[in-house]
Amino acid sequence: MDRTVPAGLDSDILQMTLDAISEFASRELGDAVLIDLDERDEFPEALVRKMCGEELGVQMLFIPEDYGGMGGSAVDVYRMCEHLAGVDLGVATAVLATALGSDPISVGGTEEQRARWLSRIAEDGLLMAYGATEPQAGSDLGALSTTAVPTVEDGVVTGYSLTGAKQWISNGGVADLYSVLALAPGGPSWFVVEQGTEGFTHGKHEDKHGIRLSNTAALFLDDVRVDASCLVGGIEGQGLVQAQLVFGYTRLMVAAFGLGAGWSALDRAMPYSTERIQAGGPLSEKQGYTHKLIVPHVVRLEAARSCIEETAERLDGGEGALTTEGAIAKYLASEAGNLAADAAIQALGGYGYTHEYLIEKIRRDVRITTIYEGTSEIMEMTIARDRWQQHLKTRGDWYHERGRSLEALHASRADVGAGAAALAQHALAAVLEACRVERLTRNQHVLFRIGHLVALAEGAAAMSRQAARSLSGALHAKSGSRLEPEALATAARINGRDVALTVATEGIRWVIGGAGDSFDPRGLTDAVALSAIAACQAGQIEDLDRLADHLYRRSPT
Ligand SMILES: Cc1cc2nc3c(=O)[nH]c(=O)nc-3n(C[C@H](O)[C@H](O)[C@H](O)COP(=O)(O)OP(=O)(O)OC[C@H]3O[C@@H](n4cnc5c(N)ncnc54)[C@H](O)[C@@H]3O)c2cc1C
Repeated sequence: MDRTVPAGLDSDILQMTLDAISEFASRELGDAVLIDLDERDEFPEALVRKMCGEELGVQMLFIPEDYGGMGGSAVDVYRMCEHLAGVDLGVATAVLATALGSDPISVGGTEEQRARWLSRIAEDGLLMAYGATEPQAGSDLGALSTTAVPTVEDGVVTGYSLTGAKQWISNGGVADLYSVLALAPGGPSWFVVEQGTEGFTHGKHEDKHGIRLSNTAALFLDDVRVDASCLVGGIEGQGLVQAQLVFGYTRLMVAAFGLGAGWSALDRAMPYSTERIQAGGPLSEKQGYTHKLIVPHVVRLEAARSCIEETAERLDGGEGALTTEGAIAKYLASEAGNLAADAAIQALGGYGYTHEYLIEKIRRDVRITTIYEGTSEIMEMTIARDRWQQHLKTRGDWYHERGRSLEALHASRADVGAGAAALAQHALAAVLEACRVERLTRNQHVLFRIGHLVALAEGAAAMSRQAARSLSGALHAKSGSRLEPEALATAARINGRDVALTVATEGIRWVIGGAGDSFDPRGLTDAVALSAIAACQAGQIEDLDRLADHLYRRSPT
């Protein structure tokens, strides 16, 4: 059971697909239409069906070529998701729901099941829904209570009766086909259920804070009879494994949503700031404005992109599920997207607070990215647990090793922030070791804060590596980097310093906060190399100025 690694699209085909989406969006989904649909809380079903129909066929990208799709790679899918999120996150969610719904079939389905359903999604543009969450089983899917009772004839299982309820299901009220997770005698299992099957109904379109252009509804199953051939993979009890196997991949899709939404907010705030005159000059020329509301958000978003791109490339290289890396990418990108959209409202002042300028809608929309496909807290837990194990297994060397590798990069390229990123890795190793000695991960809060620091440190490392690749012209041919090589290097330096300082100070905070009075803090400040990290902050303002100049296309002063 595995996701087959697709060859992916040629760069020009990917670009044509993205251009076609832009053209469709500017024709059908202009600002006034988006504001109206959002206010009326309406899912534009006809438009979404057009996008998944002959006109655009966006769903083809994630269906393998063998089943009539385009066989997009993880890099292709991330680029498309970022692009769609820049159009509208609700519409993007409708497309994501089909991808998610088809995933259990892609990874766990039999050959016959793949041919039967994936081909229909590719050819007929079926909308799918992914029914995992239940009223009492959200983050903890193991608590699910929807049951699948086998129907046995002459000792052979011929079908199942599904009974239960699902909650917050994207496309729940409009899909043609549903993947439903239910508890069979052999354990949680995925079943494919057709719309209109007797006993299968859905609730009202939920009235949501954001992504109001996406249909979200509860599902109700009352003795819904499905044939045994609808059990994905034909073996009971594979459901949670099948869900886990695609997390690395599906979380990248939501990461790309955070990236696309965050950038679309900044893409509106930046031009505004060049035209808005306050105190005798444009806002874009005021450091107190750009260095708080624009530049740090570009840095955080592009750091997240580095993680997304590295993980996508590794998935395409067949490196396995990469669940932790997918979680890091999702965590960084969705949190960065939220912060960026929030800052963009501030950047427009009173105008940002109105419906007309759309940024407040983006802010409401992007909020979902830290909730669905695993909340940020669940990401922190997933990341922390995995890397904690690595720390123990390597006797504390896991992040020191990563620090040494970044030092080697710094020795060959001193301008990509790898020195600061290395300090961050060593500081993280010291914090983890102090947590081990003081047995602090018994505190869930400390464990989750470790997850946060791990994500930041790995993001800084990825960004330095990507900046180095960019400077030597070796970024992936389909990289979506928004920064030219020198600017990406500048952003990596800014990010490296910020992350090193956060890892050290937050690490100290939680170790000392969790340990008893007998703990001597001086040893820890030395172990995290706090003075070296303080010293490496030199040049931060100059780099913030430099990146602002790049973003606003002006020559350095
Ligand atoms: C608009 C929308 C669309 C969605 N689409 C789909 C879909 O298509 N298919 C689908 O199956 N699901 C979907 N979901 C469900 C979504 O994945 C869940 O809402 C999410 O996983 C969180 O589950 P929950 O809402 O039950 O919250 P809970 O799990 O109850 O979490 C509530 C809070 O507690 C925190 N928390 C949870 N567990 C722990 C813990 N062990 N330790 C510490 N803190 C914890 C969480 O981080 C969160 O902050 C959607 C949700 C929304 C809102």
